[in-house]
Amino acid sequence: MVDVAVLGAGLAGSSAAKALADKGWETLLLDRQSFPRHKVCGEFLSPEAQSTLQALGLGDSIAELGHSELERVRLIFENGAEVDMALPGKAWGISRYSLDAALHQAAAQAGAALQTGRTVTSVRATDRGFLIQTKQGREVGSLEARAVIAAWGASQRTELAGYLGQPARKPSYIGVKSHFRGIAMEPVVELYFFRGGYLGLCPVEDGLVNASALLERGAVANTGKTILTILGGAAQRNKRLFEKLKHAEPVLGSQAAVAPVYLNRKLFPWDQQLPLLGDTSGMIPPLCGDGMSMALRSAALCVPLADRYLRGQLSMAEWELAYTRSINREFKGPLRWGAFLQWLFGMTAVTDWLPHGARLAPGIVQGLWQATRLKPFQL
Ligand SMILES: Cc1cc2nc3c(=O)[nH]c(=O)nc-3n(C[C@H](O)[C@H](O)[C@H](O)COP(=O)(O)OP(=O)(O)OC[C@H]3O[C@@H](n4cnc5c(N)ncnc54)[C@H](O)[C@@H]3O)c2cc1C
Repeated sequence: MVDVAVLGAGLAGSSAAKALADKGWETLLLDRQSFPRHKVCGEFLSPEAQSTLQALGLGDSIAELGHSELERVRLIFENGAEVDMALPGKAWGISRYSLDAALHQAAAQAGAALQTGRTVTSVRATDRGFLIQTKQGREVGSLEARAVIAAWGASQRTELAGYLGQPARKPSYIGVKSHFRGIAMEPVVELYFFRGGYLGLCPVEDGLVNASALLERGAVANTGKTILTILGGAAQRNKRLFEKLKHAEPVLGSQAAVAPVYLNRKLFPWDQQLPLLGDTSGMIPPLCGDGMSMALRSAALCVPLADRYLRGQLSMAEWELAYTRSINREFKGPLRWGAFLQWLFGMTAVTDWLPHGARLAPGIVQGLWQATRLKPFQL
């Protein structure tokens, strides 16, 4: 029987496990994957993430990872026009390969036990807390915890746990990524739009550039079956992107893909007795580049309540109420505006007009972008 089991060791789970172990709780962090691993993500850690990292006691360890610093966002449309915006603070370009591994190290240093390659297959409430069933290769195991935190990402695996989960809401997308060498970049994250999706270029550590794309399923037909041919097919759809990637050299082994990606899931912070963190509770369209920040924020909001629950100062119902309220307060606005931006940028007529509109009224695009952001973290 551990005090708390955190299921899923992505950003939300590992930062929550670190903060809970800091408070002295016996914490187990489980993930089905082995680490380090490359993960589909734009690898743009927004300026809004900084205050949350500090609150979780992670600011210094992440700052040491050799990230790149980004000052601007550039949107480049199919017709070649662009919109350039200053970021409200410095963002970081950092690979998930390094970031997730650094969070695991921080969690382990704080005293959390990390078990990887172990898949959670069910979670059931018992008289004493929770019974968690797992599978590791052919080996089936179980463990008990007084409290459970679900941070298993956007996959639809919640049904596995006997919990409600969220029904899949179409349409779905496919996400792909690869690191490249040999792309000249300013301290700018670039988003290239085209019919059927977009591709982001973000400088990360060691002079590498992460290319990640979110594509409608139809947009990958006839592009071949490998991640690199899919990225190549996307590059053909935007002339300036094609020019940018023409001489780029892929870093072998850095490719990853994910499907299906559903962008229109509802915000869902609690499922029966489980607090849901990060993408499990809701996902902002990746175009906004704030999913990582939200994953960290959900951990920072949940941990003080979990601590009080474990001390017997809060009932489960009070934990649920307080956590649900804080998630709704902080995430509802950004998610609503994020969904609007995703819809807007999917319309060719709008993207044709947007660069002219942005020249005439530069505040409009900046204001729309700002509406998708989290406020600085305050306890
Ligand atoms: C194409 C694309 C681009 C993106 N670009 C950006 C960006 O530039 N900036 C940004 O901030 N966000 C971006 N995001 C979003 C960001 O990647 C996510 O919001 C973030 O990873 C969420 O973190 P998380 O901890 O909630 O989930 P994850 O990081 O997905 O972690 C969930 C973990 O749970 C584990 N797991 C799942 N099921 C089980 C199980 N049954 N048992 C045990 N373990 C399990 C998984 O292996 C995984 O490690 C992007 C997303 C996509 C798809």
